[in-house]
Amino acid sequence: MTDLFSKFDPLIQQREALLATGVTDPFSLVMEKVLSPTVAICNGRETILLGTYNYMGMTFDEDVIAAGKEALEKFGSGTTGSRVLNGTYRGHREVEDALKEFYAMDHAMVFSTGYQANLGIISTIAGKGDYVILDIDSHASIYDGCKMGDAEIVAFRHNDVEALEKRLKRLPADAGKLVVLEGVYSMLGDVAPLKEMVRVSKENGAMVLVDEAHSMGFIGDNGRGVVEAQGVIDDVDFIIGTFSKSVGTVGGFCVSNHPKFEILRLVCRPYVFTASLPPSVVATAATSIRKLMHGSNKRAHLWENSKTLHKGLKDLGFTLGTDEPQSAIIAVIMPDLEKGAMMWEALLEEGLYVNLARPPATPAGMTLLRCSLCAEHSSEQVGEILGRFERAGKRVGIIG
Ligand code: PMP
Repeated sequence: MTDLFSKFDPLIQQREALLATGVTDPFSLVMEKVLSPTVAICNGRETILLGTYNYMGMTFDEDVIAAGKEALEKFGSGTTGSRVLNGTYRGHREVEDALKEFYAMDHAMVFSTGYQANLGIISTIAGKGDYVILDIDSHASIYDGCKMGDAEIVAFRHNDVEALEKRLKRLPADAGKLVVLEGVYSMLGDVAPLKEMVRVSKENGAMVLVDEAHSMGFIGDNGRGVVEAQGVIDDVDFIIGTFSKSVGTVGGFCVSNHPKFEILRLVCRPYVFTASLPPSVVATAATSIRKLMHGSNKRAHLWENSKTLHKGLKDLGFTLGTDEPQSAIIAVIMPDLEKGAMMWEALLEEGLYVNLARPPATPAGMTLLRCSLCAEHSSEQVGEILGRFERAGKRVGIIG
């Protein structure tokens, strides 16, 4: 018998070697208690959270919590069924209405996660003989959506408009084409040049899908994402998003103005063949989305936080993923995985949680300490975060 697990041996060895250095396992942290969107108890210690996707801090919003409690009591703990059978409750319609209003679009379809939204939409609309043209640094859910479908996959260099154009021009003029982009790329926190990319895609007869997972609620005057900030929201065919970041719960969605969009509810397998979201989740999501429509003060404060942290880390001598702050994500580049894990642990000992990210999630084999800011981080907390980075960075020898 061949042990099917032997393929994992290199990873098991790498992990064992890392743990043998005495470092705490960075991938098994437990949040023992969560006190607010920005503070939790980890290893018995009060810890500032700088590695969540809780960009707008909605997880403890009192209206959001109240909506969830009410739905839990009125509609029960779960739907026990697919959206196309017994799993569409009033709340699912209400959250789809909230999304249509939020994006000012005709159609909205809610999935159980953002991962499934990408799987479902990409694999369903791009079929045999069609092409999916995607940025090489695309999220795993986009790649998995491509794998699940029958279309030909063409990747282009990250955020490179010319490379995208070259690839598009090589494809048969009459073939179906879907260009898949992200507003904010989650590893380095960099923004895509969507204006040019959408133009080039349209000139070459392609439909465009933009995953705005990391920009919803924050980027753009109304929080509609990079498509809004760059003035191309009316030119994109599909926006994919998630409830697991700014919205503060779980779920995924696609919004579109395509006149035939609703047929997807019958043919999209990751929508049909899974249970729908629990009533409490859709109620919290709908309330949160409606509040995000009026979140401009919070958006302004989050931009302030992002600028202060980016400048502070740069001044301390850390190497960052972008020259300027472009989103709520600031990536600190580590020399290697071992140093990255040591720094991660030193920060945790200081009472600061960040994300340790490494390949295959990261581009170019990088190890990153990914900081994601929240609109609920106070200016004092951001100052405190910089002090903790300075102490940990000197202790580990990342900065002088
Ligand atoms: N798209 C992108 C760009 C993401 O970063 C993520 C999650 N990190 C997803 C989709 C999936 O979202 P969800 O957590 O809702 O599955």
